[in-house]
Amino acid sequence: MESIPPELNTPTYIDVLEQFDAAADWFCLDRNIWKRLRLPQRALCVTMPIRMDNGDVHVFQGFRVQHDTSLGPTKGGVRYHPGVNLGEVAALAMNMTWKCALVGLPYGGAKGGIRCNPKNLSRRELQRLTRRYTAEILPLIGPDHDIPAPDVGTNEQVMAWMMDTYSQQRGYAVPGVVTGKPICIGGSLGREEATGRGVVYITLETLRHLGIKAEGSTAVVQGFGNVGSIAARFLISNGIKVVGVSDSTCGVYNSNGLDISALISYKKSKHTLEGYSNAEMITNEELFGLECTILVPAALSGQITEENAGRLKCRIIVEGANSPTTSGADEILRERGVFVIPDILANSGGVIVSYFEWVQDLQKYFWKEKEINERLQEVIITAFNEVLKFSISENIDMRKASMVKAIKRLADAHLARGLYP
Ligand code: NAD
Repeated sequence: MESIPPELNTPTYIDVLEQFDAAADWFCLDRNIWKRLRLPQRALCVTMPIRMDNGDVHVFQGFRVQHDTSLGPTKGGVRYHPGVNLGEVAALAMNMTWKCALVGLPYGGAKGGIRCNPKNLSRRELQRLTRRYTAEILPLIGPDHDIPAPDVGTNEQVMAWMMDTYSQQRGYAVPGVVTGKPICIGGSLGREEATGRGVVYITLETLRHLGIKAEGSTAVVQGFGNVGSIAARFLISNGIKVVGVSDSTCGVYNSNGLDISALISYKKSKHTLEGYSNAEMITNEELFGLECTILVPAALSGQITEENAGRLKCRIIVEGANSPTTSGADEILRERGVFVIPDILANSGGVIVSYFEWVQDLQKYFWKEKEINERLQEVIITAFNEVLKFSISENIDMRKASMVKAIKRLADAHLARGLYP
């Protein structure tokens, strides 16, 4: 592999590049386009001195990375997590480029993040940090430039503060600067549920393709935040029994199926799954050993590794999280015949409805929820079927088929636009 700049050289960036290289090699991508696409176009590192509630000043580090702007403005979430680093943010930005291209959105990929533990910050500290971060990345963002959204550790309230900070600088309300914001300030109906809903649309299509009935199928979900909990809810409403879920503290298991509504209420009040009484407590390690039809990783990157890929007991993996599977693990899963739906396809529901939100904000005309869900279903299922057809005709797996289709769209755009100057 060609060398990686030291500041990006992290496990997640290496994994994302390995997937890119494998797809690019497969169709002999133009060498110059290849060189361009393996690096982000822009990366901004910021430091933010924040007055904590106890009077101390703490200096936080944050990032915003734009991978590619050839198809339009960039789009991608903002992550608040202690493990955030430039390499990871750049990898996730690159993944966003492929995701947007794959489902036909007029966006390039971006990602942002702050290295912090939001659970240890008060609401006031979180607001000050978010506003200062927004001010620091202000030169890069805007409805025509780069449009942030929620990701791990952020939510619609964080988006509202970002939208307000940006709007205060402009002197008028600019709802299109972020997506995933509250409905009352220009958010879209259906956005909060979109990623989990999309994961389930894809799961049902996969089951249909493999000739497996939803009724009688079982699922295990790692991560019980926005994506995981909503996916679990929709899996159940489609007749699939969810037998195990986990969050960062622990996992819960019930072979008869978990009561997901009760777990969502429990998690909302206790902020953890620990202590939930109507199921067996298990570890995250044990969760990955559970027998099931479908495994939905919906937590962080790099969870399915060479160490645990051999003992997964599932038939299908639908990647709700971004980059949950390492390249080494991917190889093992392929050999074992596990049918993997890659992140850029499986969790694209979020960015698809974010795109709908942005369009509604720009048009200042809002759609009904039914229309949004139907359009989401149409876009994501069309993308799934195109990838499936390509994977069958070329005899390649769904990840490579998705990557090749996405990279080809980018390559066409770069070749059409040419080099500047
Ligand atoms: P979230 O913060 O709402 O939830 C994350 C969940 O993962 C939490 O329940 C947390 O406890 C759990 N978790 C963290 N570390 C864990 C570990 N080691 N083991 C088990 N669980 C762990 O975040 P989210 O928005 O649900 O995002 C989850 C994943 O989905 C991320 O990879 C994110 O990039 C991806 N994603 C999110 C969206 C979206 O619209 N929110 C869209 C596309 C992709």
